[in-house]
Amino acid sequence: MKTTRRDFIKIGSMGAGSLVIATSPLLNWVPGFLKEDSDVLDDSKLKRTATYCEVCFWKCAAWTYTDKKGKIVKLIGNEEDQQSNGRLCPRGTGGLGMYYDKERLKKPLIRRKGKRGESDYFEEASWEEALDLIAENMDRIKKEHGPECVALFSHGSGTSHFAHMLKAFGSTNIAAPSYAQCRGPREVGFDATFGESVGSPEPLDIRNTKCMVLIGSHIGENMHNGQVQEMSQAIDNGATIITVDPRFSTAASKSKIWLPIKPATDMALLLSWINVIINDELYDKKYVEKYTYGFDLLKNHVKNFTPEWAATETGLDPNKIREAAYEMGAASPAVIVHPGRHVTWYGDDTQRSRAIAILNALLGSYGRRGGFYIAEKFKIPKFPHPPYPKPKRTWRDAFPGSYKLVHEVISSGVCEATIPNQMVRPEDTCSFKAWLVYGTNLLSSLPDINNTLEAIKHLEFIAVIDTMPMEITGWADVVLPEATYLERYDMLRSLKHRKPSIALRAPATKPLYDSKPGWWIAKQLGERLGLHEFFKFENIEEELDWQLKKIGSSLEEMKKVGVKTFDRTYDDLYYRDGEELEFGTNTGKIELYSTALAEEGYDAMPVYTKHPQPASGFYRFIYGRAPMHTFGKTVNNPYLADLMDENSVWVNPKVAKDWGLKNGKEVWLENQDGIVSTFPVKVRVTERIRSDAVYVVHGFGHNNKGMGLKRSQGKGMNDTEMITNVMNDKISGGTGMRGNFVTFLLEEPEKKEATV
Ligand code: SF4
Repeated sequence: MKTTRRDFIKIGSMGAGSLVIATSPLLNWVPGFLKEDSDVLDDSKLKRTATYCEVCFWKCAAWTYTDKKGKIVKLIGNEEDQQSNGRLCPRGTGGLGMYYDKERLKKPLIRRKGKRGESDYFEEASWEEALDLIAENMDRIKKEHGPECVALFSHGSGTSHFAHMLKAFGSTNIAAPSYAQCRGPREVGFDATFGESVGSPEPLDIRNTKCMVLIGSHIGENMHNGQVQEMSQAIDNGATIITVDPRFSTAASKSKIWLPIKPATDMALLLSWINVIINDELYDKKYVEKYTYGFDLLKNHVKNFTPEWAATETGLDPNKIREAAYEMGAASPAVIVHPGRHVTWYGDDTQRSRAIAILNALLGSYGRRGGFYIAEKFKIPKFPHPPYPKPKRTWRDAFPGSYKLVHEVISSGVCEATIPNQMVRPEDTCSFKAWLVYGTNLLSSLPDINNTLEAIKHLEFIAVIDTMPMEITGWADVVLPEATYLERYDMLRSLKHRKPSIALRAPATKPLYDSKPGWWIAKQLGERLGLHEFFKFENIEEELDWQLKKIGSSLEEMKKVGVKTFDRTYDDLYYRDGEELEFGTNTGKIELYSTALAEEGYDAMPVYTKHPQPASGFYRFIYGRAPMHTFGKTVNNPYLADLMDENSVWVNPKVAKDWGLKNGKEVWLENQDGIVSTFPVKVRVTERIRSDAVYVVHGFGHNNKGMGLKRSQGKGMNDTEMITNVMNDKISGGTGMRGNFVTFLLEEPEKKEATV
């Protein structure tokens, strides 16, 4: 099978039946732009400004082009950037829509009357008044309860100035759903195995791999730019792709082996692969002997987990299971068992990630060409400020003895600790009283919407800072409109990669409406809170220039180049043959048997747990991504909505026949707890999904009438509404969300008050 890079990206979009523009300037999409205006094609007539994309957290470096009138006309990837290799993904090129969206937040808003959540009661306010009100409330809460009772939520994008402001204020309770609702379990699982977490971007040497295994990871629909490009390169080079997915995903269509697994049985498959790789001696003997700890214990542990046993659990052909293990063994060490990204599925997710880490260790892929490379990150000096005050309490106080192996804040834990009666230690007074919510729609990113609303009810104050109105915005007391990434400076981007590098985000134009950059908002708040010493720069240009001069560059230089790449300090991307290594685990070895997990009373090696399967007439509810959208964040983007403006529910033909469903028929979904989707969703009958599951793309079904978003209001269904059974992973705090089952309602159900 031969696939060109461009074909692959195109294929990435075909699943959703839409056009993808990988590198084009979106000529037709820019309002007021005439196709025949050759000025836009002639870069010499345009001004270019360095930026890095904020449409998702991949942060691809790019150039924003503006015409003579200062109008943004196109976005192009920066050729020097390792994250994008000069290409933006379809969402990235659609970033202009964030700027041009007429439904964006335009003025500060204050709720002057009415209950929280009744968005009609917002009134426009001045920046002075809105900032004063936030600072007054933070100050009051600090005096009455302590600064630690204020929490900040963000989601891997935007400026770090809010986190800086909160730490200076006295709280380290800074959470992102990208941890506990997404990658948390794999970070703990890999840390327990290799002594370091995976991080983002994952240091995967995909372009040099000979075999890549994707378990519920749908690259191509999940448009992580660099990974999509490298996977395409790997396929061109003849790499074997093995995809484990109950759905025939885009990646499955590019795979030599597709394993349409019964959902919730992945651990059985992984254990059987470990069994075959050990017993058939497919592992990297020298590597395992030199670098790992606990091989004999593991060998004994998996002795009964044969492919034949796994077949009874997974519904897969045992010969196919074995064939896949042999493919991995033949490619070793140039093999990647992908750690995945959104891995919060069934509550035993850290252990499943451990099994994936163990497989990589047995195959000798960690630190090897075609496996995991050794990434490096550039350390940017901090603008001088006094030491942060030491908080007396943190979110952990609500969970004594738990989450000791977790190194980030669990957002759902902060949510729970906001509801006094859910706290493990109710006498603890550090239940949260105020939330600052920056660029994340918590009513879509946290599971169990009613639980989030319950937490919001207990808050004394909530402020939302965002570019767009979202469901969470409607529950705020104060809303601050942030300028989009094309209109503002942010902190320098420093990501770990093959080479350390930094990237600049600078404004290509003045902010539209009355929006302001995040750094300015945070500084204004900091100064109102008496934290002047922490914000001693006049403006962000001064801060950036100071940082850049410290590392031998300048703001002037970065404006010209956008991206600056540095030499590595460790001279090789991979471990050298026979190199002496010490891993960051208790034993200094790669731990197949985890001493850290054993010390905390958890299983030291992954075990198989049988998870419930759907009752008759119900189907496992699975959700995923589309290449032109990033969660719910982009579905109102005028250009990206043009590519896909609603989701559909994938239904196997056998199920469709049982229910009399036809393509395009609208149905409502009802879950095992009797929760019915607010909006209907159209059926898509397809062989590409097993008959015991249904699938939707995440992020649709917006219901935020009072706050705008007319374009996406009621388009498709909101998958988060269906996620009421949350299986918490005791080790990592990850919220397992794949244990929900739905059935179909063919008629419109009686109208109930909408949840959000
Ligand atoms: S992957 Fe796409 S959306 Fe994400 S940062 Fe890169 S270009 Fe932007």
